[in-house]
Amino acid sequence: MNEDLKSCNMEKSNLTRSVHKGRSQNSEPKIVEWTEKPWNPITGCVKVSTGCANCYAEKTADWLQRINNPRYKNGFRLTLHEDLLDEPLKWRKPRRIFIGSMSDIFQRAIPEDFVLRAFETMNQSPQHTFIVLTKRADRMEELSAKINWTDNIWLGVTVEEAAYKDRIDCLRNTPAVRKFVCAEPLIGDLGQVNLTGIDWLVIGGESGPNSRPMDEEWVVSLRDQCRLQNVMFTFKQWGGVKRKENGSLLQGEYHHDLPAVMRD
Ligand code: SF4
Repeated sequence: MNEDLKSCNMEKSNLTRSVHKGRSQNSEPKIVEWTEKPWNPITGCVKVSTGCANCYAEKTADWLQRINNPRYKNGFRLTLHEDLLDEPLKWRKPRRIFIGSMSDIFQRAIPEDFVLRAFETMNQSPQHTFIVLTKRADRMEELSAKINWTDNIWLGVTVEEAAYKDRIDCLRNTPAVRKFVCAEPLIGDLGQVNLTGIDWLVIGGESGPNSRPMDEEWVVSLRDQCRLQNVMFTFKQWGGVKRKENGSLLQGEYHHDLPAVMRD
């Protein structure tokens, strides 16, 4: 068995299936926040696909610019923060770190050397777990051979509708040890999905005033495919305008599978 698959299976054997029965939204269990700390050596981005329409990072960057936060003097225009590249090395306490909550690290406009240095910081911080999520799967795949994929790095692609399923193929083609798919905001039926080599799938509906609806059928289909393909499955939320009230109950159950390292 190849080493990647072996480690994926080890992770799965550590998995406690977290399926809670629920009768009402009042019994909503608290979902563990798997990211504890953002790390943003890059800010700003360009919209690349339909899931970007209501980009939270764009709204946040605009607001931070208005209140004169020096990191956001360019608003949502791509900006590199060289001085933050080694920030996690200074954090002694182990953390789950989401890189690029205000950007996408695999944008073509970001110099290759800058991207590789960010990954070197991850390699040098084994105490932390890093979550890297992108919609630029083609560049991710291109650069992946130059990256040292230590097992503290979770690499994921966003797939918000069927038109972007080829991002999963790009992810599968990388040598990353830990791989996940983020179907959030899920705005279309993904249909049949090949999850070979994928450890974890996360689904969430879009929230906020302009949120687009998510059909229960799409979610049930993905849940069943995860079960068949032995992939961890987290259903975060239905989303919508009343996100908290809408909760995450799916056909009487909560699905909060998490990789061992993501649990508190
Ligand atoms: S890729 Fe992410 S950060 Fe960039 S515009 Fe789209 S949603 Fe926003």
